Amino acid sequence: MKIAVLGTGMVGRAIAGKLSTLGHNVVIGTRDVEQTLARTEPDWLDNAPFAQWQPTHPAVQLAAFANAGAYGEIIVNATQGALSLTALEATGAANLSGKVLLDVAMPLDLSQGMPPTLTVANTDSLAERIQRTYPSTRVVKSLNTMLADIMVDPARIPGSHNVFVAGEDAAAKETVTILLREFGWPEEAILDLGGIRAARGVEMYGAMTFALSAALGTFDFNIAVVRA
Ligand code: NAP
Repeated sequence: MKIAVLGTGMVGRAIAGKLSTLGHNVVIGTRDVEQTLARTEPDWLDNAPFAQWQPTHPAVQLAAFANAGAYGEIIVNATQGALSLTALEATGAANLSGKVLLDVAMPLDLSQGMPPTLTVANTDSLAERIQRTYPSTRVVKSLNTMLADIMVDPARIPGSHNVFVAGEDAAAKETVTILLREFGWPEEAILDLGGIRAARGVEMYGAMTFALSAALGTFDFNIAVVRA
């Protein structure tokens, strides 16, 4: 499929790289192609500049958000969550209309340092805001509860562990579920939490993520739901 991955950070790269390896046609979206390729410093998470990553995935194209959005039959939102609505505005409503939008973003506020707080919580979520802003876009929240490397390679965590999906459109959730299976997620690991409102829970898990990472000294872990 033709897939647009909005976001040049470690999540966008991990998802775009995996999708390309799987045989999909992938364009990564960014604010300004020239500026992104001209960067020479690591990002705030110490990831190498995009220009160093791109030659390792030559089939993945880089384009401005709007061009990427026009290209993709499926859109992945892997932009900085606090600014995702800005990124989606640049992508353009017409380019989002009717499409499945896999929202991986976390609405983190890092302005007061670590650990971050959330820019939206409790009574609303980023995914709901995206869905309200683009009512004809079929938003599915998924994959935001784990490190980028785990999203596309669940086998790096031993044993059974889970990934969640939430959204209003059953067919859109099925489309995302098919991608999750392609990434290596076993059927029984994929938990459908229901409508887009469930995004509140998986986004607020962000606070727990940072507490766990402080305790464990790593982000390389995931949630395993154990039931009686
Ligand atoms: P990130 O640094 O959070 O986001 C990078 C992307 O955000 C870039 O494409 C950047 O655009 C865009 N961006 C930044 N400021 C912007 C603005 N003012 N307007 C429009 N776009 C803007 O990258 P990340 O670490 O890969 O995370 C991506 C998303 O996934 C985030 O929401 C994050 O919370 C979530 N998440 C991350 C992880 C992880 O393992 N890192 C795990 C779970 C969820 P340019 O390309 O133009 O610079």
